[in-house]
Amino acid sequence: MKIVIAGAGIGGLVAALSLHAAGLRDVRVLEAVPRIRPFGAGVNVQPNAVRELAALGLAESLAHAGTELTELSYHNHLGQRIWYEPRGRASDCDWPQLAVHRGVLQSILVDAVHDRLGPDALTTDARVTGFDPLDGGGTEVLLAHRCGDRPDSSIRADVLVGADGLRSAVRRTLYPEEGEPRANGTTVWRGVNRSTPFQGGRSMVVMGDGRWKAVIYPLAGRPDADGLVLVNWAVSRAATPQDTERDPGQEPPPGDGFPGAVSDWTCGDLRLRTVLAGAGSVGSFPMLDRDPLPRWSFGPVTLLGDAAHAMAPMGSSATTQAVLDARGLAHALATHRDPVRALAAYDRDRRPPMNRLQLLNRAKGPELVIDLAQERAPGGFRRVEDVIPAARLARVAESYARAAGFDTESVNTPSPYDCHRPSSGAHAEAVREP
Ligand SMILES: Cc1cc2nc3c(=O)[nH]c(=O)nc-3n(C[C@H](O)[C@H](O)[C@H](O)COP(=O)(O)OP(=O)(O)OC[C@H]3O[C@@H](n4cnc5c(N)ncnc54)[C@H](O)[C@@H]3O)c2cc1C
Repeated sequence: MKIVIAGAGIGGLVAALSLHAAGLRDVRVLEAVPRIRPFGAGVNVQPNAVRELAALGLAESLAHAGTELTELSYHNHLGQRIWYEPRGRASDCDWPQLAVHRGVLQSILVDAVHDRLGPDALTTDARVTGFDPLDGGGTEVLLAHRCGDRPDSSIRADVLVGADGLRSAVRRTLYPEEGEPRANGTTVWRGVNRSTPFQGGRSMVVMGDGRWKAVIYPLAGRPDADGLVLVNWAVSRAATPQDTERDPGQEPPPGDGFPGAVSDWTCGDLRLRTVLAGAGSVGSFPMLDRDPLPRWSFGPVTLLGDAAHAMAPMGSSATTQAVLDARGLAHALATHRDPVRALAAYDRDRRPPMNRLQLLNRAKGPELVIDLAQERAPGGFRRVEDVIPAARLARVAESYARAAGFDTESVNTPSPYDCHRPSSGAHAEAVREP
């Protein structure tokens, strides 16, 4: 069975590795960019995704490249604590929560694909532009190339997986009427700086005043010779009237108010001014997501990761869920004889929870508590329980963790997607048809 994956992002690469580990060896990953470069900033890999990456033998290199986060706290703009929770192993999960640079994670995965699937498994400068169904099953995947004078080409596949991100060409072919991603008017600035360690070095801090918000966490726990660590930051600003006059998907002008009052914020020993120092040239972009879809799998074609369920960046879920999709897809293909049935099973397994998570993120996910505190106590509070009942705060956090599958009980359950098989070829006796 020839499986073609559009996109060598986190989801596409983990899918390739998972398929290979499950004994499906004819896998090609096609990436649009001519050269994969370490773009982006930090991403979080939640413990349920670390468990899945550990099953692929990647947990050690990931842990080495990233930082283990052990706590998460939400604060108002005065630094007063609204909510605190231990994370990962500190909350009795068997696996850690790891913060890692997206580019570093991608290069670990690219190296593993090269080592395990061979040098020809990943082709760059191969942009998938669409596909045509073939009589008798499978699909003709259409490709465009940017470098040299290479003409457009195509490749036949029994299965096509669209792991091609927010502006997926595979999704566009399946849903030609859908148009651009949805913008909510929020502008995001994001970057990675060297800064002084804060709050013990393993904390993720989210602060906000209802309009501005800052998310800060360390990306490398070991201080350099100057005592500085790599710190990931994202500052966002909810829509202003000027923003709403602009086309919502359009990039805001550079600078555009950043960093506003945020640079005066402090939270214990965390000083935003210090973290944001030197961040002058940083780019900004609109916060985008997609609507939940009624279907991901159509015959031999399916979607995965952001292509399937791009979600607003609340709750640090996108990378984690792309990993879970990849593992779920490989499990489905390894345990069904018929690939079309396998893709339908994958759709039934992964789409409903992701549809719910997309909507939860659109409603601010766990970061909702910041808005609640702002509405009820814009000038601050003496005790947060005076303005928001403790049970309400706990409910917001717990229900999000369950929806995203990183509550302790779910994490400590063995992976539902384990299907390692030693060799390629026929399906194992354990093949389970629906
Ligand atoms: C360059 C980049 C930087 C990012 N930086 C951050 C960050 O700092 N923080 C964060 O939280 N999230 C970031 N993201 C998003 C984050 O990686 C995803 O939300 C998450 O990891 C899910 O991954 P994914 O594999 O579904 O999508 P992505 O990581 O977006 O990967 C999609 C891949 O498909 C490729 N592609 C796109 N179109 C085509 C096509 N037509 N044919 C073939 N290949 C195609 C892209 O080049 C990319 O490599 C970034 C994404 C990208 C592409």
